[in-house]
Amino acid sequence: QKCLSLIKKTKFLNAYITVSEEVALKQAEESEKRYKNGQSLGDLDGIPIAVKDNFSTSGIETTCASNMLKGYVPPYNATVVQKLLDQGALLMGKTNLDEFAMGSGSTDGVFGPVKNPWSYSKQYREKRKQNPHSESGDSDWLITGGSSGGSAAAVSAFTCYAALGSDTGGSTRNPAAHCGLVGFKPSYGLVSRHGLIPLVNSMDVPGILTRYVDDAAIVLGVLAGHDPKDSTTVPINKPLVLSSLEDVSKLCIGIPKEYLVPELSSEIQCLWSRAADLFESEGAKVIEVSLPHTSYSIVCYHVLCTSEVASNMARFDGLQYGHRCDIDVSTEAMYAATRREGFNDVVRGRILSGNFFLLKENYENYFVKAQKVRRLIANDFVNAFNSGVDVLLTPTTLSEAVPYLEFIKEDNRTRSAQDDIFTQAVNMAGLPAVNIPIALSNQGLPIGLQFIGRAFCDQQLLTVAKWFE
Ligand code: GLN
Repeated sequence: QKCLSLIKKTKFLNAYITVSEEVALKQAEESEKRYKNGQSLGDLDGIPIAVKDNFSTSGIETTCASNMLKGYVPPYNATVVQKLLDQGALLMGKTNLDEFAMGSGSTDGVFGPVKNPWSYSKQYREKRKQNPHSESGDSDWLITGGSSGGSAAAVSAFTCYAALGSDTGGSTRNPAAHCGLVGFKPSYGLVSRHGLIPLVNSMDVPGILTRYVDDAAIVLGVLAGHDPKDSTTVPINKPLVLSSLEDVSKLCIGIPKEYLVPELSSEIQCLWSRAADLFESEGAKVIEVSLPHTSYSIVCYHVLCTSEVASNMARFDGLQYGHRCDIDVSTEAMYAATRREGFNDVVRGRILSGNFFLLKENYENYFVKAQKVRRLIANDFVNAFNSGVDVLLTPTTLSEAVPYLEFIKEDNRTRSAQDDIFTQAVNMAGLPAVNIPIALSNQGLPIGLQFIGRAFCDQQLLTVAKWFE
């Protein structure tokens, strides 16, 4: 009830698309009964959790923040949602996002942008007042980052203790960095994607947003494992238990030199090097490594992402799910008008680019070439880990959260694509990675750093992150 009242109080953040109050209260009642009767409890019994609105939830509207799916009520739960419920979690609601998770700001959904709770912190407001150039009025707030910004705002505003996001190119880690949270992207194949409405099937993973690493590990323990409904998942042979790392002297931390880009804010750069110093002073080995294909990552992601999007989005034809236009002169005209009305310009733009890359005459030159570059990018990480590195330490974002009005300026769209420079390569390589909040900036806003681990060494990664936290 406390969380529900906070959801109401913070409605202006626009974190939730649907609040499942009745469901949550009923689940809470059942959980309380289990507790009072001394029945065995699930790992998440009675814990309020929110879910990004691109995971299917049985009987609860699932929109992907798109006109295309407004009113769509799935007949089944995504595997991850079912696993949360099986362990007693309370489903607080479905959180806001960029339409179909395409974006890095949570500003591009049909239900409007998500506001970063840190916009209203005392320290930030004071600093803002002192700045003569700052805008004032209703639009003077910061973006959450995205695309899982609703989930990040929901946890950050204390309306739940964990939230599911999705991460295709950084969408869990980026908003976690901007909202001062732990944002964990598991290894590809560790957590089922069944029921996660796809963006890029070969890169999507469910992500976890929490306040502490321990909480993320508990949720991961519930979610991880083989799912017969997702053939890309692998079995895990022992339960995921997070131990405390007493001593980092046997660790080798890699610092990728290509991640020191000119666009990186000097404050983040400084914290990054202080974090490396901290490991060194505690006895860890800190070495510079090279990931030479980093600079191709944004374009490579663009070709692969849009190609998979073009193919994925074909299912939204007005026949099976959600929106259908009124035009009935021909099936083709119905398809076209439904898709024009249903998708925003970002989604339509990606479908168009993807279909261009997949044209017979372009396929080899773009799609196949991008797949080869993807392999080179993935091999860069393999080489770094083979040279003895246990985890990589990098920034998560180029800067702290920016004001909404600055973010939506035309030229910032390109900047926003650039902002994924530290996160996208990880998805192309299928590795686990986590954002850990490290400090507040001069403006009083959260800054996070990213740890990247070896494939399927998620537990080791979280153990290091916990030591650092
Ligand atoms: N910003 C990236 C994109 O728009 C990543 C999105 C995501 O991870 N869902 O494609």
